[in-house]
Amino acid sequence: MRATLMYGAGDVRVETVPDARLIEPTDALVRVTRACICGSDLWPYRKMPPGETGRRMGHEFIGVVEAVGREVRTVRRGDLVVAPFVWSDGTCVFCKAGLQTSCLHGGGWGSPDVDGGQGEAVRVPQADGTLVALPVGRDDVLMPSLLTLSDVMGTGHHAALAARVEPGKIVAVVGDGAVGLCGVIAARRLGAERIIMLGRHADRVTLAREFGATDIVSERGDEAIERVRELTGDLGAHSVLECVGYEESVKTALSITRPGGAVGRVGVPQDPSIPLAKESFFDNITIGGGPAPVRAYIEELLPDVLEGRIQPGRVFDRVTDLEGVPNGYRAMNDREVVKVLVRP
Ligand SMILES: [Zn+2]
Repeated sequence: MRATLMYGAGDVRVETVPDARLIEPTDALVRVTRACICGSDLWPYRKMPPGETGRRMGHEFIGVVEAVGREVRTVRRGDLVVAPFVWSDGTCVFCKAGLQTSCLHGGGWGSPDVDGGQGEAVRVPQADGTLVALPVGRDDVLMPSLLTLSDVMGTGHHAALAARVEPGKIVAVVGDGAVGLCGVIAARRLGAERIIMLGRHADRVTLAREFGATDIVSERGDEAIERVRELTGDLGAHSVLECVGYEESVKTALSITRPGGAVGRVGVPQDPSIPLAKESFFDNITIGGGPAPVRAYIEELLPDVLEGRIQPGRVFDRVTDLEGVPNGYRAMNDREVVKVLVRP
């Protein structure tokens, strides 16, 4: 079968690899019908040292179950399923607490004998704990929005929860990528009174407004911080969603949070320490977040997608087949597009 591998920064290839197959009795074999490229795939695309063996890529996908191991109970052959960006057993102490990203028996896609999502098929370990069946046909018009439940919509929701978004609160979103845009959807869905989006790119700002952003701050750095302070009567926002991961963006997020407020970090940290330790301490700012347990959020967000109340699939602004994936990485890295949907 064909699958995507990364051999180093800027070097993504689509190659023939051994067919995905069942190994454990708890596995499912899923034929991928939709996948996508993630903003977090761009970190290795920029930094990965070159190597002889490629890394299998892709952790967001929807597909049709082709076969299941003898212990699988919750999905069966022919089901259309969505996979979260990590797999998990659904039964351990952390899964039961809704923190599937810390599953004691879970793991990531694209590890040695688990396929990546940017390919034709995937061996899904712990199928019962991982997969969620979707009550629609495989080419349903809602497919892009359903696909965001595997990562970006759940991650935006996680940022909003970690930032303690509630009705009446002023929210600020740092980062205008797919996660930041989904963060706007999540903040509105949770009842935020105002949503301030920090972003400049015209298309992204327009989409943010349509998703519910009430104010746009297009300045950068200290000027952006100043602008948010003006907009909030010099107090800052109650809830700030940090959806980038650079030291600079975390610094911006902490600088626009009001005393007693909270920052939800979902951008994968690219620096070893969190800035403004002293300032955030004296302002009693809560710093939360981490990888989103999207498996815990799929059931909660799914009805909103199915009934059209939220349309996170609008973050996809390019579609490609599998062979076009390398160019999709380039386009996302050049910020030519927000997010690329893959139809293998
Ligand atoms: Zn678990």
